[in-house]
Amino acid sequence: MNILSVENLECRHGLLVAVRGISFTMAEGEILALVGANGAGKTTLLRSIAGAHNPASGRVTFDGQDVTKLRAYKRVARGIALVPEGRRLFADMTVEENLRVAGAHGRKGTWDLPAVLDAFPQLKPKLKARSGDLSGGQQQATAIGRALMTNPRLLLLDEVSLGLSPLAVDQVYESLNGLMNSGTTIIIVEQDLRRAIAVSSRIICMLEGAIALEGASAALDREVITAAYFGLHRQTDTAP
Ligand code: ATP
Repeated sequence: MNILSVENLECRHGLLVAVRGISFTMAEGEILALVGANGAGKTTLLRSIAGAHNPASGRVTFDGQDVTKLRAYKRVARGIALVPEGRRLFADMTVEENLRVAGAHGRKGTWDLPAVLDAFPQLKPKLKARSGDLSGGQQQATAIGRALMTNPRLLLLDEVSLGLSPLAVDQVYESLNGLMNSGTTIIIVEQDLRRAIAVSSRIICMLEGAIALEGASAALDREVITAAYFGLHRQTDTAP
């Protein structure tokens, strides 16, 4: 059974249509990379799946239940966790407090403080540090750890590499590696196409709020995706 089904989703910011009639499904354990240029609608789509943005129309079904109108915190309790772009930690709280607050609001499961620290050992010496004082990589690890503390069945990762040094990006992906092999269903927004292809089983490329290209990652190369990225891959290209 599909764990996630997005049907004909349309999302707006005022008069601007950011997501235009998008539909796709995900099987449990799948890793989907969402790519596309700035402003293509990736963040709005992820936020709508998480319940942080109200879609104008369409439907989101999770684990067989229609969650389109469900508030974000109730979706967390069902197993949907978003790691937002820009991380959005509670800057004045310590790393440990950020993690524990999330743990109190999620599902029960194998992810607890020791498990998160095993996955992100760089956080061990920083548990009592104010999260606002951490490096970008440590903040990203905390943000992912916070999502994991809710024991998600669907993890939504929005541009986890943004603003990090190449070394910190490698470190974050190394930690994500174990998670990706563990059967958690993941949607990851990633600007680095090489990495997006490497970590995912399927790719969706968005252009101006719609799906420009969708396919198995193993069957797509960077040239094809780049063409879709810039709108050079449309069906209408063959139209007179
Ligand atoms: P990026 O990589 O820059 O984050 P994105 O693909 O995630 O881009 P979105 O952030 O979803 O795209 O933005 C889609 C469109 O909606 C863009 O035109 C953007 O300017 C607009 N938009 C996003 N958030 C808002 C907002 N809060 N108010 C008004 N317009 C918004």
